Amino acid sequence: MNAVRARNESAWLLPAGPGTDERLRRNMRGYADGDEVDIVIVGCGAGGATLLQRLARAGWTAVALEAGPFWDPERDWVSDEAGSHHLYWTEPRIIAGTDPVPLGSNNSGRGVGGSMVHFAGYAPRLHPSDFHTFSADGVGADWPLEYADLRPYYEDLEEELPVAGERWPWGDPHGYPHRPHPVSGNGELLLRGARACGITAKVGPVAIANGRFGNRPHCIYRGFCLQGCKVNAKASPLITHVPDALAHGAEVRAEAMATGIGLDERTGQATGVRYLRHGVERFQRARMVAVAGYSIETPRLLLHSTSKRFPDGMCNDFDLVGRYLMVQGAPQTAGRFDAEVRMWKAPPPEVSTEEFYETDPANSYRRGFSIQTVSPLPITWAEHVAAQGHWGAELRRYMSDYPHWACLGALCEFLPLAENRVTLADERDRNGMPIARFSYSQCSNDRQLMVAAQHVMEQILTAAGAAEVITINRYAHLVGGARMARDERSGVVNRDCRSFAVPNLMVTDGSVLPTQGSANPALTIMALAARTAAVLSTGARRGVLTSVKE
Ligand SMILES: Cc1cc2nc3c(=O)[nH]c(=O)nc-3n(C[C@H](O)[C@H](O)[C@H](O)COP(=O)(O)OP(=O)(O)OC[C@H]3O[C@@H](n4cnc5c(N)ncnc54)[C@H](O)[C@@H]3O)c2cc1C
Ligand code: SF4
Repeated sequence: MNAVRARNESAWLLPAGPGTDERLRRNMRGYADGDEVDIVIVGCGAGGATLLQRLARAGWTAVALEAGPFWDPERDWVSDEAGSHHLYWTEPRIIAGTDPVPLGSNNSGRGVGGSMVHFAGYAPRLHPSDFHTFSADGVGADWPLEYADLRPYYEDLEEELPVAGERWPWGDPHGYPHRPHPVSGNGELLLRGARACGITAKVGPVAIANGRFGNRPHCIYRGFCLQGCKVNAKASPLITHVPDALAHGAEVRAEAMATGIGLDERTGQATGVRYLRHGVERFQRARMVAVAGYSIETPRLLLHSTSKRFPDGMCNDFDLVGRYLMVQGAPQTAGRFDAEVRMWKAPPPEVSTEEFYETDPANSYRRGFSIQTVSPLPITWAEHVAAQGHWGAELRRYMSDYPHWACLGALCEFLPLAENRVTLADERDRNGMPIARFSYSQCSNDRQLMVAAQHVMEQILTAAGAAEVITINRYAHLVGGARMARDERSGVVNRDCRSFAVPNLMVTDGSVLPTQGSANPALTIMALAARTAAVLSTGARRGVLTSVKE
């Protein structure tokens, strides 16, 4: 515990019990636009807030510009599905392709803490195989770093969130700092059905403290993780990294929408960030810029940052910005049981299996999927049933029967394809910025994975005793769009998340992932940002950094 606190004191800086670090926010250091800070970070979510906290600790002067509000969980959040719409990024976007991806609540967040404010809390690592799928399986891409490069950062962050779960037998087998949570009715059924099918399933890993952690209270198992945890039991950067960043002199400037990155045409270096705050256009000067606005907003900002040097968007010399975006195929299967399951009573994902994660040469497809409990609340449950075509009296019947249903979700590793991309539309938003146009089409491997995952989920629920099973197709998560690679003809940033084209410009969010595995992405995004911060703050990569820290 002392080692975690020495690295990140956030949990001890919050007030005891639910509530907000009001004193820290009131006394937060403020910088003027004209102050040339060491770094300005766009977006204060998983990647941005982790970078901010690490660099503030290392003594950097740092400002995070965040488009959304500085949430107060007590004041701003409610344990209610309908009342939580304001947590999502709902600015207009255009979707296209043969398999257009619905956006909004399912894959975007806004405000300090980013999408993790309303993420489901599941925090698995990638597998070592994820880092070289092209060499091993002939699909996807090889990363410019290996699993071993990220392992120490995974371990640090699992302690800081903290993560609770059983010993994990898959990928690089490892334990978790907190023991697994008690298992819900939904989780019990996944364990039972999997056992009957000869499939190993385990409890965890969830980024929810099992017991008190610092001043954060324990989970009360009411299942409102996707609505923002009012009691501060579930991790999000708002409570796990921002308090420590503020205590070390960082500024989080909320309601500040970045609209462009400044460039010195003579030196080719970034000079700061243009942003809108309360209707006024401003420019924060900085020696280094990091973009961490999530997989659609990061490419949009880069593409919108044009100049003589970059007429087609910053870092876009090889037409790679916005390409290779990925969602995970996330079919969801529900099963009806005679006994009441009450699937809402627990963190939604709690039990899972990664038995089908790796490539099996016996299959006609490459890579694989994971299966987790998902536990939709009533409105999402109604969407599931309606998507099956049930309406009117039939829909009412399913809704009244809600306590009897269990629900599983898969995460299928969709492959990175160049034509799955963000471009700028002709239409503009209320800030005058071109709207993002997001085009998505599945390949045959993607479709095969969806079918295979559905088959296994239906098998598990039937083996657990379900009398009826219904499956719908969905997508989850969103990564890629400014991927890391070994060279500038294959990606936008290098292994340290530094752009190839502008030496003092970093990208430190989910946009940099070249592949996604079948794991939920937040822990990996945080681990990459923590690694980048370590590289920057130790000065391991000289060049432009010498002017920053020496
Ligand atoms: C409903 C839901 C459930 C999820 N469940 C899980 C889960 O269980 N496990 C898991 O690992 N992952 C989960 N995820 C995904 C996970 O939350 C994201 O992958 C992760 O938070 C992305 O991190 P990021 O740093 O890329 O972006 P974010 O965390 O989204 O942060 C980006 C921030 O940038 C801000 N921003 C964007 N553009 C601008 C701009 N121009 N100027 C200023 N600020 C800007 C946004 O407001 C946002 O706060 C879930 C996501 C959703 C939506
Ligand atoms: S189930 Fe636990 S972690 Fe989720 S919202 Fe409730 S208290 Fe928070």
